[in-house]
Amino acid sequence: MKPYRLPLYLSLALALLTGLTGCSQPGTGISEAMPPAKARTAAAPRAGVMQVSFIDIGQGDAELIRTPQGKSILIDAGDVDKGDEVVAYLKSQGVRHLDYVVATHPHADHIGGMNAVLKSVPVRQFLDSGFAYGSKTQEKMLLTIRSKAIPFKVAQQDDHIAVEPNVDLLVYSPKKPYLKNTDSDPNNNSVSCKITYGKTAFLFTGDMEEDGRARMYSAQPDLKANVLKVAHHGSHNGTDDAFLQRVKPSIAVISCGKGNSYKHPHKQALDALKRAKAKVYRTDLQGTVVVTSNGQTVQVGGTPVAAPAPVSSDPVYGHAKSHIYHAASCSRLPSAKNRVSFRSAAEAEAAGYRAHSCMK
Ligand SMILES: [Zn+2]
Ligand SMILES: [Zn+2]
Repeated sequence: MKPYRLPLYLSLALALLTGLTGCSQPGTGISEAMPPAKARTAAAPRAGVMQVSFIDIGQGDAELIRTPQGKSILIDAGDVDKGDEVVAYLKSQGVRHLDYVVATHPHADHIGGMNAVLKSVPVRQFLDSGFAYGSKTQEKMLLTIRSKAIPFKVAQQDDHIAVEPNVDLLVYSPKKPYLKNTDSDPNNNSVSCKITYGKTAFLFTGDMEEDGRARMYSAQPDLKANVLKVAHHGSHNGTDDAFLQRVKPSIAVISCGKGNSYKHPHKQALDALKRAKAKVYRTDLQGTVVVTSNGQTVQVGGTPVAAPAPVSSDPVYGHAKSHIYHAASCSRLPSAKNRVSFRSAAEAEAAGYRAHSCMK
């Protein structure tokens, strides 16, 4: 057991919190730091598409969310020796800054890589569980946040961030006073949040276990989500039938390392996911898992899309059956019978259509 240095965490966290500038929006509970003028946002993966990458960083968690308008959110950053891999992934995706970084809880397999990320990529808002763990890893992370003057905020139940029109981040946990004397207090006080885009939703619950879930249920949250980041790397205590009945995910992603010593994922969690009829993807078997949403439906993609998509405000023409759309100049335009007109490529993408090679 590492020695607890609560006063140090508290003084660091307090300094970070009081250093916050910006205006608090009524009802949001979140202070929104104004982005610098002329701030450049990373190009969206594809017009009208939100892309969520469950990055393969071995045993641990790291998820990158890229919104349709090019905002970037990182939830966790893997273990200490994986920070560089997370940074490399961000760079490969054209991410030049992070609009939000969420540290679900202070275990090293979630925040160990944070230092490398914070030192390499500018961060506009850091959201922390506020749970004082007293580890060297947490202390280092807080010192970096302070030295970089990154706006810092403790996330609490009912916080709501309007990330951009049509994309919201809702916080379901933790809540003060924090849970104590559970099997793992850091795990049970994890930040649990949902990111919605249009009609689709992704739920992230860190390493939350039974006690954390019970606390979360008491607020009657709407946990329904198309995609679930399975809690605690597929541990038996991270997933059960009651939880899955609330979430009703069609896709479940387990982030764990090949041959990990915890034997994650556990059979109980996999059986519960099977009963819930969720399609399971695993980073230990499939590598980085990328899920995209067009605001209506979600889809598991193969390779992440690194290049910015054609963003055009010219009208495009889709084929009603193949759901492929073309530029007006394309020689292979759908016949009038099957032709569906869109005002822009973005509109076609939002309707679930895919670009023909003439658009590239
Ligand atoms: Zn973990
Ligand atoms: Zn943990």
